[in-house]
Amino acid sequence: MSLLVVGSVGLDSVETPFDKIEDALGGSATYISLAASYFSAPVTLIGVVGSDFPKPYIEMLEDHNVDLEGMQIIEGEKTFRWGGKYHYDLNVRDTLFTELNAFENFNPVIPENFHKARYVCLGNIDPILQMKVLEQMTDPQFVVCDTMNLWINTMKDDLLKLLKKVTVLIINDSEARLLTNEPNLIKAAKMIRELGPEILIIKKGEHGALLFTNDTIFSAPAYPMEIIFDPTGAGDSFAGGFIGYLHKTRDLSPENIRRAVIYGSAMASFCVEKFSTKGLEDLSHLQIQDRFRDFKNLSSFDEPN
Ligand code: AMP
Repeated sequence: MSLLVVGSVGLDSVETPFDKIEDALGGSATYISLAASYFSAPVTLIGVVGSDFPKPYIEMLEDHNVDLEGMQIIEGEKTFRWGGKYHYDLNVRDTLFTELNAFENFNPVIPENFHKARYVCLGNIDPILQMKVLEQMTDPQFVVCDTMNLWINTMKDDLLKLLKKVTVLIINDSEARLLTNEPNLIKAAKMIRELGPEILIIKKGEHGALLFTNDTIFSAPAYPMEIIFDPTGAGDSFAGGFIGYLHKTRDLSPENIRRAVIYGSAMASFCVEKFSTKGLEDLSHLQIQDRFRDFKNLSSFDEPN
């Protein structure tokens, strides 16, 4: 059974201190699917675009074995567009505009033959839509979910209902604090895990990620990068690498979940090296393996004799 990914597919206009780009391929489901496609194929993407969505983007996704049977193309509608501007501190981003367009009335419909999928990744869209996806599934066993401050602020009750059905929640540190009103991340993590998700991953940007499971905390480093071209989609690429690896290996042991966090971090590091999805388009398995090893070496040390 393939890995099911739902989320936004859109055209991003992004400005960084180094360059800018217009109507480039973006969207949470796009980054997740591309990152996951290096581990697990096919990946089934559920989303919506307008009839202006460029053909070369469709071809590129298909070349990566992303199955688009569940991607609706709405005739006469425009594709979702998002504009963002990064500051010199690339952790600071302003949203310049969000045009929902075809996304406004998105009703995710899972094709019949995917109702039995066990691994589902709910990219960042409103929690009611995320729930609609789960309601169509027969027995989703491993549900990874991303969300954002917008939904925590505006649809908290729906998000809390959804969290009861989620296996892994992936959020960043400020979202974890916002969700719980608790400044200490360790305490916040405990509170979030009590809301439903067995596993919690808190991303801390250039400071790596923390994985919280039953009784352990695992700290994954961030890759030390000299060039960060475009941070857009890093979180989604993390989620794609994480669930793609777990879907491929079907091993949910604590050690393998740690490895998945490192594969997620590796895919995020490739993503930010180029604009839009370019950093995820031409990777080799050798490059991914090498980066995985770099992560291992970054934080490996011996006890003194
Ligand atoms: P990230 O950098 O991980 O926050 O993801 C950025 C991606 O999310 C961009 O490619 C945008 O197209 C997409 N995006 C931005 N705002 C929204 C929104 N409100 N709903 C869904 N996707 C969004």
